Amino acid sequence: MPRTLVTGGAGFLGSHLCEYLLQKGHEVICMDNLITGRVGNIAHIRNKSFTFINYNVTNYVYVDGPLDYVFHFASPASPIDYQEYPIQTLKVGSLGTHKTLGLAMEKGSRYLLASTSEVYGDPLVHPQTEDYWGNVNPIGIRGVYDEAKRFAEAMVMAYHRYHKLDTRIVRIFNTFGPRMRLYDGRAVPTLMRQALKGEDLTVFGQGSQTRSFCYVDDLIEGIYRLMMSDYSNPVNLGNTEELSILELAHLIVKLTDCKTKIIHQPLPDDDPKVRKPDISRAKAVLSWQPKVRVAEGMQKTLEWVKRII
Ligand code: NAD
Repeated sequence: MPRTLVTGGAGFLGSHLCEYLLQKGHEVICMDNLITGRVGNIAHIRNKSFTFINYNVTNYVYVDGPLDYVFHFASPASPIDYQEYPIQTLKVGSLGTHKTLGLAMEKGSRYLLASTSEVYGDPLVHPQTEDYWGNVNPIGIRGVYDEAKRFAEAMVMAYHRYHKLDTRIVRIFNTFGPRMRLYDGRAVPTLMRQALKGEDLTVFGQGSQTRSFCYVDDLIEGIYRLMMSDYSNPVNLGNTEELSILELAHLIVKLTDCKTKIIHQPLPDDDPKVRKPDISRAKAVLSWQPKVRVAEGMQKTLEWVKRII
């Protein structure tokens, strides 16, 4: 039975990944300090192959026994979170990546970094291909997250080239689904919460900025395929259905049949104007592409949001 560590395993994506790995027959160690995650995301997992360790991975990381795979997912990920925890975000992307790479070296594990489309910043190339180097403001409010992930990618490639560690890098584009937090500021849960509570829907700027939203189940399958592949360069994973934020708000109004209005607020600094993955590489290397249409994923997420509200 493969033994696998998931850092950030009590978060939105990490908890789905833990469940997926358990289904695939892995023994899973979930390590998380709960800074933005919740025990509630994993409390329902009843499996003797699952262990939770409450730990901050910016410190020296040790795990007893053999370890076949390390998935490094720990990091605050929404703009509200990483602006509330700027230093912790920089530390988990830098020190946390270093410590978990060290663990993978010691155990001879294969290592996967959860990177992000934010390494492309406010992109000058559209859609974004993996060979685009990005347009990031290092000292802007988003810099703590974007630069931490860029550093993390550099660190992973250094371990790959210098220590010959078997590594993977996934650049995740906006992903949504059950277990997102309703107050973490990300567009999908925020707009759904507002619509269901009868509040006005807030859209930043004119809402013409675009995002491409991938349903969580598709993403997790792609991540697993990448880990099991033999491909070490970064791979974009995301949905290519691009929506403006205003279109997203209208879709949520339609799905919820809400009667409230859409109001506009000032655009935050350095907000990317466009975001859409080129997934040719994922198609070629992993035979992967999303299966869940955006509207279908939104419907599933909405049912979950309704339940928790
Ligand atoms: P999340 O906040 O729900 O999950 C992150 C988890 O990491 C949380 O449980 C948090 O408590 C934990 N964590 C943070 N710092 C830690 C530390 N020092 N030690 C131990 N645990 C720590 O966010 P998410 O959306 O699930 O994101 C997971 C990963 O995927 C992140 O690395 C993020 O950068 C990446 N990502 C997510 C998206 C997305 O759309 N959700 C997009 C791009 C990249």
